[in-house]
Amino acid sequence: MDKEFIKKMEEELLKQQAKLRGELSSFADESVKKEDDYNTRFPNYGDKDEENATEVADFQDNLSLEKNLEKTLGKVDIALERIKNGTYGKCDKCANEIDVARLEAFPAAVLCMECNKFV
Ligand SMILES: [Zn+2]
Repeated sequence: MDKEFIKKMEEELLKQQAKLRGELSSFADESVKKEDDYNTRFPNYGDKDEENATEVADFQDNLSLEKNLEKTLGKVDIALERIKNGTYGKCDKCANEIDVARLEAFPAAVLCMECNKFV
């Protein structure tokens, strides 16, 4: 795979990584034990009943947001890892090269179009 292209994808992935980490840390604390693992903070709006109810609702929302963002962040981390060890752009399943257009649209892709159909 073209070095220039990989460099471009790496920059894009690092940008996504920073953005995801930023979003996560706005409502969650990073775990000290594991990198890119976050724990949603319980919000504190006040002691009134309606404030407490909003806290619980927001906490639930943030928990599912945390899960989604962590999942995406995990994929970005894996892609960056693959750039480091030189396996970036190869399909995880059939070892064919992943289409450049697919990587451009989704730099963290680890499966080619064909294999992705069966996931
Ligand atoms: Zn494949």
